[in-house]
Amino acid sequence: MNWENFQFFYTDHIEVPLPDGHRFPMEKYRLLHQALVTENIIDPSQLHPAPFAIDDDLLRAHKDWYIQGLKNNTLTEKQFRPIGLTWSNELIQRSLAAVGGFIEVTESALSRGYSALLAGGTHHAHADQGEGYCLLNDFACAALRLLELEKVKKILIIDLDVHQGNGNSSILGNRSDVFILSLHGEKNYPFRKVPSHLDVSLMPGSTDEVYLQALRQALDQIEPVFNFDMIFYQAGVDNLKEDSLGTLDLSFEGLMKRDQMVFEFAKGKPLAMAIGGGYAKPIELTVRAHVNTFKVAKNYF
Ligand SMILES: [Zn+2]
Repeated sequence: MNWENFQFFYTDHIEVPLPDGHRFPMEKYRLLHQALVTENIIDPSQLHPAPFAIDDDLLRAHKDWYIQGLKNNTLTEKQFRPIGLTWSNELIQRSLAAVGGFIEVTESALSRGYSALLAGGTHHAHADQGEGYCLLNDFACAALRLLELEKVKKILIIDLDVHQGNGNSSILGNRSDVFILSLHGEKNYPFRKVPSHLDVSLMPGSTDEVYLQALRQALDQIEPVFNFDMIFYQAGVDNLKEDSLGTLDLSFEGLMKRDQMVFEFAKGKPLAMAIGGGYAKPIELTVRAHVNTFKVAKNYF
């Protein structure tokens, strides 16, 4: 595998208007994109705008009425409110690009070994309900597509965002051809967690040592029971100590060791990555943590 041959996809070509002071850090995606180029981690020729998902790709994971309700802005206020964002055409376009982009990431990872979306990891979106800044579930749409097309037989989802992936679990949690590991903060949203195949909840203030040991144990538990052909990695960095939403106390070094552990665990099997959450103040700390994940990947590959 050769780093220069890897492809990356971004969604910041679509700008989403948000009210001033909104908690969602929309600018981190653009800042990450810029930093990866200016720090010579990714060459501009490797970066591609994410294409929009088509309805066929959404329908494997979502209800038709929900998809059309999002697109046409016909969901009720009560149905839309849990998403935590304001409806706009750009928001819908960007959500379609996150799903379409992640589908491209999985295809690229299958043929080249590794690929990543500079966005995504929308693991709180359910079949007929969005929440927690997630409208459509990129991992579920991509997983069900690859399985239906028989491009892979078994997919391992490693979800290391500080928030539990309740949407992934509500859509994929009962399948035997998907295995979801979610390692998250016990006291973090969502407060009603939907069971994954393996959930590991960590107490507030958990440090690098506790976290890395828990991850090691979880990965060791999966290896003998689930023979995957591919990994989807949700590399959220909201478990950083400085994060405004996360309850864990990881350092930059701890997060880099975590990423290294995941890449080594893949043992050369295709790895499709999405960046997941990150809400540090200032946002530059989150961007730094995401950049580090790509640095670890580049070093590893
Ligand atoms: Zn999160």
